[in-house]
Formats: sequence, structure tokens, C-alpha cells
Amino acid sequence: MNITFEKFDLQMRHRFTISRASRTFTPLVLTQISLGAAIGRGEASLPPYLPENQTTVIQFLEKTNIFLANNFKNINAQNFDYQTIEQIMDSLETLSENDTAAKASIDIALHNLWADLQQKKLWQLWGINPETMPETSCTLGIDTPSVIREKVTHMKDFKVLKVKLGTDDDKILIETIREMTDKPLYVDANAGWKDREKVLDLIYWLQSKNTILVEQPMAKENLEDHAWLREKSPLPIFADESFQRLRDLEKVKNAFHGVNIKLMKCTGLREARKIIVEARKNDLKIMVGCMSETSCAIMAAAQIAPLVDFADLDSTWLTTNNPFESPILRGGKICL
Ligand code: MG
Repeated sequence: MNITFEKFDLQMRHRFTISRASRTFTPLVLTQISLGAAIGRGEASLPPYLPENQTTVIQFLEKTNIFLANNFKNINAQNFDYQTIEQIMDSLETLSENDTAAKASIDIALHNLWADLQQKKLWQLWGINPETMPETSCTLGIDTPSVIREKVTHMKDFKVLKVKLGTDDDKILIETIREMTDKPLYVDANAGWKDREKVLDLIYWLQSKNTILVEQPMAKENLEDHAWLREKSPLPIFADESFQRLRDLEKVKNAFHGVNIKLMKCTGLREARKIIVEARKNDLKIMVGCMSETSCAIMAAAQIAPLVDFADLDSTWLTTNNPFESPILRGGKICL
């Protein structure tokens, strides 16, 4: 079992701007694990404001290859099973505490390898009901009204829009969208709002504009103001930047109504499925989201999306050079 990999730059359809950053492409590392005739593909997505980059991912993959050669040399296509994925992913935690996107690239490839060996889709192997797939939102980055209008037109097949806010022009942006469509909105401030009283007023205003939920209104460390908002907000508040991995659930469960799970943050499908179980035990709502990813990681996340309340798996519609087969959208939902 050997991981091969290559760098890839995923080009954005439009310059993508959120409250704290802006970019025209996202660096990725595409991975592949083969075992006999079976192969599994994975990827790491590396937005520039996060600590990992292509170099750190490749270093981690090289380290993992040596580790696999030393510790998993007896694995073959006949004895590779889900336990193998659990063992490998557990072992990677001993190699480093962080490197979550690098680990996700291995986790996704291992899961796809397992599915290929079993000749089934992951959702089938897990007995997931595809009928409960939520509609996926499509994201509008911060932009001028004319570009927003163009994007809303491009997103006509989606039933829900996700809007990036967090600047002084938030209301103008929402009003621009509302001139064109009354589709429900998810709002994501990416930690861009500062004063909790003003944030609460704005959330009431957003509710009057048919907003369904608000993601990460304030700074990721500021759990106190999020807990205050959680008590008072008429809309559910979701943790994204404040929530990375399973171990963070304890910290955020009393400060938010829900969490946004992303494979790149939580090291992949194995941990994402554990988070879903634990989040449910704590009565948290769940969204499955994405970074700028190809359809490889998007379709991996889509396998578990029927288990959650909200999906934001849009990046293949926001990029122009997805190297794989594009996902199919039917009735605003990704087809499994
Ligand atoms: Mg977010």
C-alpha cells in the first residue's frame, strides 16, 4: 500500500472573498492509494489562511508512506477491511497532532479504496438512506451588487443560498439578493462581527429576510458572546471556525446550536461519522460543509450528508477545473 500524490491548483470561478481573506485559486494535493487492482482517491484542500500548505501535506504523506511500509506491510486486497482504516487513522494521530487536511486526504483515499474493493458506494456499505439527503446550499462570496446578481443567476438550480457576510455592506448584499430571489439563505460571517448587541439586532433583521441559520458570527475564541447569542438568537447559530474536531464538541456545545463538520478540519470521514453520533447525543444540529474541493472530497462528504440537517457541498459549482466527473444536482440535492 503506497500513497502517490500531486499538487493541483483549483481555480475559482470568481475571486472568492470572505470577511478575512480573498483568493482566486486554492492549492490542493490530490492523493491516490492502490492495493492490487483497486484504487482510492483522496485530496487535501489548503486555503491560504489555514496552517497547512502543499509542502506540509507532501511531507506528511512521505512520512506516512514510510510508516505504512513499516507497520502495515501485510495488508492486501483480501484482508483490507474497515478495521484497517480505523487502525491506520489511529496511527496517524501518533505521527502528528495537526495536519488535518493531510490526514483527510489519506482517510478519503482509504474509504474510496474500501468502497472499490467492496464494489459498493460508501453510503450503501453504511446502510445510509439516500432519501434523507438535505438540499445543498451554494455560496456567494462577498462581492459588488453586479457580480452578486450574476452569481445568483448562475445558481438557479440551488434551492438555498449561503451568503458570506462580515463587512459594513452586509445589508446591501442581502437586499441585492432579495431583489432577485426569495430563496432561503444561510448566512456565514466567518467570525467577522464584533459587538454582540449589534449582532443580535442584525440576526433579527436577517430572520425577517428569510434567513434560516447563522454560521460563526464572532471570533472563534469568543465562546462567551456566542453562548450569550445562543440564548437570545431567533435563528440557530453554528460553529465553524470554533469547531474543528470531535474533541472540540465539549467546548462548543453550550455556545452554539450546531456545528459545521468539514472533512478537511476533522481528518476525514472516520472522525466525521463519530462527530455526527456525539453531536446528536448533545442535541446539536449538524451541517456538513466543505473547503474549495474537487468532486472527490465533495462526493466523499455527500456519502454522510443524509445523516445531517444541512449540507453546504457546493465547491465544484464555484470552481472551473475540477479534474473529476462533476456531481449531479437533482431538486437541489446531490445525487448519490
Ligand atoms: Mg463557514
